[in-house]
Amino acid sequence: MSTNAFRPPANKFSGGPIDYRNFIDGRFVDGATDYIEVMNPADGSLLGRVPDSGAAAVDAAVQAARRAQVAWEKRPAIERAGFLRQISAKVRTHRLELADIVVKEQGKVRPLAQIEVDFTADYIDYMAEWARRLEGEVITSDRPNETIFLLRKPIGTVAGILPWNFPFFLIARKLAPALVTGNTIVIKPSEETPINAFVFAELVAETDLPPGVVNVVGGRGAGTGQALVEHKGIDLVTFTGSVGTGSRIMQTAGQNLTRVNLELGGKAPAIVLASADLDLAAKAIYDSRVINTGQVCNCAERVYVERSVHDALVDKLKRLLETTRYGDPSVETDLHMGPLVSRAGLEKVAQAVERAKAEGASVVTGGRVSDKSVGHHYEPTLITGVRADHDIMRSEIFGPVLPVQMVEDIDEAIGLANDSDYGLTSSIFTNDLNAALKASRELKFGETYVNREHFEAMQGFHAGRRKSGIGGADGKHGLYEFTETHVVYIQG
Ligand code: NAD
Repeated sequence: MSTNAFRPPANKFSGGPIDYRNFIDGRFVDGATDYIEVMNPADGSLLGRVPDSGAAAVDAAVQAARRAQVAWEKRPAIERAGFLRQISAKVRTHRLELADIVVKEQGKVRPLAQIEVDFTADYIDYMAEWARRLEGEVITSDRPNETIFLLRKPIGTVAGILPWNFPFFLIARKLAPALVTGNTIVIKPSEETPINAFVFAELVAETDLPPGVVNVVGGRGAGTGQALVEHKGIDLVTFTGSVGTGSRIMQTAGQNLTRVNLELGGKAPAIVLASADLDLAAKAIYDSRVINTGQVCNCAERVYVERSVHDALVDKLKRLLETTRYGDPSVETDLHMGPLVSRAGLEKVAQAVERAKAEGASVVTGGRVSDKSVGHHYEPTLITGVRADHDIMRSEIFGPVLPVQMVEDIDEAIGLANDSDYGLTSSIFTNDLNAALKASRELKFGETYVNREHFEAMQGFHAGRRKSGIGGADGKHGLYEFTETHVVYIQG
């Protein structure tokens, strides 16, 4: 389809940094004047440059997506699924090179980057499977000789705006349900981690996908992202990122009454009762905290533990955190954590810990910027003696820092867990069935995990309450967020 010869992603890094081009209407477009430099957060080396797109490039991408959508919607869903499967096959073919890009660009440890890439291919296939299951309804009418059909239709042209923490998977979470339901898409990756999206575009260009169905434009949030959300040709903005940006996007989208789907931040509570298997609880909470260096929206960010097991749990968490190996994942293997994605991210984590200390909390282990000479590394940190009003129990940290608060019972724990601006995920550790059932009734969160780490399944529904978002993703309910209903009354 594209006039540009495809170069395997591996070459992107073997020949030194290159300039990537926007992918618009099935072509890689030359002529960018402004660029963003993309660095490896582990060593500060330059990986490449991507366009910092202006309004004209955004407009070209949206217009291409709108033109393509007319014919795309008319294809049988099973044909659309076929194109998606071509894309997932390309991802599988280049799985190692793609994981390498995620390692270098985001600082993710290689095994997790590989899981992300493989999961992405599976996710695209999962959404493709819905092609034969897109359902409307037939409803009885109050009138004689009338049938009411409720048809499920695509919304139109979608803007997918992405964060940096699962940069590759989140492309699929937006693109796959959008495409199988008959929408077209313009993707704007994060300026921190855009290269994987441009390499993804090269894979798309190698398939038979019609021009304009998928477009990728690079750029910063305040310029390119804002122009995309403001564009009158966008019918739905699906955004994953911070609460502040989500709020701004909603205000901007409101000017055109453009629909929004917002997956925002989290401050996930983990409740540990005296009835819990403490080894299981400590390991699950630990895994949840160090995965992706603590930069995951749904992972445990605050712990509430019953008094009688507080010291034992703290001891187990301390020992686990002190075994954490971290470093540069592009050269070291067998690591639990890489660097934080940016200097700003590192400073945010360090400030959160300093504030907690000033508010009277105690650092049990960690608590410092690492003395490694390169990379944005922070020591895995355990904090006790916190109170509900301490900022570290209320604001998203997004780093390898775990604050633990002692509680008297399950009611206090659930009350504190719910008393939060965030409502994405939560967990409880107990072998008491009644306690688990009580938590499932009373926790006010989009997801609750019982006796396991915080991580969602593609067939579930990932959705935040309160400031954690509007709408959701995954499964049937996430798929239908990319559709709208059309009711047809037929007499005769
Ligand atoms: P961010 O909000 O800083 O940026 C996300 C994206 O929004 C980037 O592509 C950015 O360029 C763009 N953007 C910024 N300003 C914009 C504007 N005015 N208009 C349009 N686009 C704009 O978030 P981040 O730092 O990249 O990601 C981390 C955040 O994402 C954390 O808060 C995390 O909890 C959240 N997150 C949530 C989920 C979820 O499923 N709920 C998943 C992953 C990450």
